[in-house]
Amino acid sequence: MLKAIKIIALFIIKHLGGFWLARILNKGNTCVLCYHGFAYEDEYQFRPKLFMRPESFKKRLAWLQDSPYKVVSLSEAINNQHNENLVVLTMDDGWAGTKELVGDSLAEHNFPLMLYVTSYYAQKQGAVINVALAYILWKSVGKTLVIDGSILAINKTYLISVENTVSIVNELCQQIDEVEDFATRQRVLLAIAEQLQVSLHSDDQLMFRSLTAEELTGLQQSNVDIQLHTHRHCSPQNEQEFKLEISQNIDYLQNIELKNTLQHFCYPSGEHYLTQLPWLKESGVVTATTVFSGMLTPDTEHLQISRILDGEDVHQLEFEAELCGLATFLRKLY
Ligand SMILES: [Zn+2]
Repeated sequence: MLKAIKIIALFIIKHLGGFWLARILNKGNTCVLCYHGFAYEDEYQFRPKLFMRPESFKKRLAWLQDSPYKVVSLSEAINNQHNENLVVLTMDDGWAGTKELVGDSLAEHNFPLMLYVTSYYAQKQGAVINVALAYILWKSVGKTLVIDGSILAINKTYLISVENTVSIVNELCQQIDEVEDFATRQRVLLAIAEQLQVSLHSDDQLMFRSLTAEELTGLQQSNVDIQLHTHRHCSPQNEQEFKLEISQNIDYLQNIELKNTLQHFCYPSGEHYLTQLPWLKESGVVTATTVFSGMLTPDTEHLQISRILDGEDVHQLEFEAELCGLATFLRKLY
C-alpha cells in the first residue's frame, strides 16, 4: 500500500516537472548504480535485490540508452568535467548469470560496467553455500529437514518456518564450514537440497555459482572492468587480515588477462570502517564503493562512494527518481 502511494506521488512529481528540475540541479553529479546477480528461475522472488530478472535488467539498459543520462566509467565520473547528468554501472560479486543471462545485453549496449569479483568461489567453482542454502530453506517452509551423520556430524531435526530460516541457515553454515574439503561441502549442500526436493539446477546448469576465469576474460570484450571485492567476501577489521583478503583477491584476478589495473574496490555487503581507508590506499586502491544511498558529487570521498541498489523490487519511477537525484534529496529531508 505504501509502495503504491509512493509510485503515485512520483508519477505526479514527474509529470509536474520534478524529475526535470532535479536533473538540472544535479548536473555534474553521478548516480552510481549497483547490481548483483540474475535469476535463472524464481530467485528474484527469494532476494529481489540480489537476483534481478534478466529481462528487467535488459529494460533498464535499453531505457538508459535513450535517456538524458550519459553512462560513463567510474574514473570518468570522478574526473567529470562535463557538467552533465552521469550514470555509472557497477555489479557486485561475479555471479555466473552476468555472462549466461545478461552477457548478450552487456555486449549489445557496450556500456562501461565495473564488475567487483570476489574470488574464492570463482576459483573453486561450486554453489555459494550460504546463499544456496538460504534459497533451499526459503522454498521449504513447512517441511522437515533431518540432519544426521550421513550428512553432517550432528543429529538434528528442523521444522522449517519463515521465522527460523535465518537461524537454521546460520547453524548449518557453521557446521558445513567445519567440513574441510570443498567438494564434500558441496555434497552436503546437494544432499540437503535433495532431501527437501529443491533443485539447484536450471537447464542442467548449477545455480548460485560464480563466473569462471574464462567467462571473466570474455566479459572484458563487452566493456566490463573487473575489479576487487575481497577473496572471501568479508571485511575484516584487523589490518593483516583485511590486506590478506585484498592480496588474495588480486592474486586470483591477476591470473586472468586483465585489460585494466586493479585499483577499484567494493566493500563486501557494504561493511566498511574508517580504519580500513589507509589500508586500501596502501594496497593501491583509488576508489571504493559502499551501499549507502546517495549520489557521487565533487565533494565525495573516493574511498566511500555511495551507490543506489537497483533490483527486481525497484519500480521504474523509483529508478528514475534515483537517477535525477530527487530521491537523494528527499532522503535528506527525513
Ligand atoms: Zn558482494
